[in-house]
Amino acid sequence: MTKILMYSVRPDEQAAIDAWVATNNIEVDTTTAEFGPKTVDLAKDYDGIVIQQHAAIPEEAVYQKLKSFGIKQLALRITGFDIVNLKAATANGLAVTNVPAYSPRSVSELVLAQVMRLIRHLGEASAREAKDDYSWGGLEAAEIHNLTVGIIGAGKIGSAVARIFRALGSTVIVTDPVKRPELADTVSYVDLDTLLTTADIVTVHTPLDAKTTHLIDANALKKMRSSAYLINAARGPIVDTGALIQSLKDHEIAGAALDTIEGEAGIFGEDRSQSLVDNPELETLKTMPNVEITPHIGFYTDAAVKNMVDISLDDVKLILEGGHSPHQVN
Ligand code: NAD
Repeated sequence: MTKILMYSVRPDEQAAIDAWVATNNIEVDTTTAEFGPKTVDLAKDYDGIVIQQHAAIPEEAVYQKLKSFGIKQLALRITGFDIVNLKAATANGLAVTNVPAYSPRSVSELVLAQVMRLIRHLGEASAREAKDDYSWGGLEAAEIHNLTVGIIGAGKIGSAVARIFRALGSTVIVTDPVKRPELADTVSYVDLDTLLTTADIVTVHTPLDAKTTHLIDANALKKMRSSAYLINAARGPIVDTGALIQSLKDHEIAGAALDTIEGEAGIFGEDRSQSLVDNPELETLKTMPNVEITPHIGFYTDAAVKNMVDISLDDVKLILEGGHSPHQVN
């Protein structure tokens, strides 16, 4: 029987794996170990492998070993494939696949939750309640249908954000070099300066690259309205965290929600309650009631987890049966 090994499996993925196995005549074994030079030998005697991790695997020897085991593919059950040495994978005859869109709704629904928390001042209300202060002063809220939501980067996730807020009656404006005809009835395209100066909510959904690193810097924050909120559920370094803290302290903007932050590696996704978290900027932001922080959980919904498991295992099966996956990246 065909055998697949899945690396870095979390307990919450097991139900989806069991459901896939029940409908496919393939054995799937799991390990909590991350894939790399120290663990590649676990793949011996398997026909295919699926991985999911942030740590890069540049070592050519790893890909040579997979080839020597007779393995012909490497499936990622995440989107980003920058961790894979594609040259070495290709040279060793490995078809590398990813999951390009496991659920754009997952991240966009977190953005909705964060926006609602911010505009209803729920952080401030909770901080007061903890001190038995049930007063109303300062808690008057705006209503979402009266607000303009500015989306920087309306690709898969940004488009889903646009549709959600449009459905709630908000005005939606977008900055993106790529204009999508399917959004024509939903959004107006504007330049970045117009978006920053006009929007009540500024939410970033671009990839992280040289152009978007610190796209939201001190200069950009100064252009935003003092009543506006910033959301980053894309990648930490798109926002200059130091500049954001200064801007919040100077009341240049009203608040922020961050699902991702510079220096989050080793912190977000971990229980750090028993060890010092050495990220002073995160510590400062945590003390601000107008800042919502979540530990990079935008992707983490039941539907997305199931899609990550199903799509990656379907790809392994397809390739082992001699087919070509539409998700192949090399
Ligand atoms: P995508 O590639 O589908 O869309 C990105 C969009 O940004 C594209 O339309 C592109 O044209 C546009 N863009 C690129 N550079 C731009 C710039 N300088 N200014 C304006 N627009 C620009 O990507 P996606 O799948 O929608 O993902 C968006 C972001 O969300 C990525 O950074 C991704 O890493 C992140 N993400 C976060 C989570 C999470 O758990 N929080 C989960 C998945 C993805």
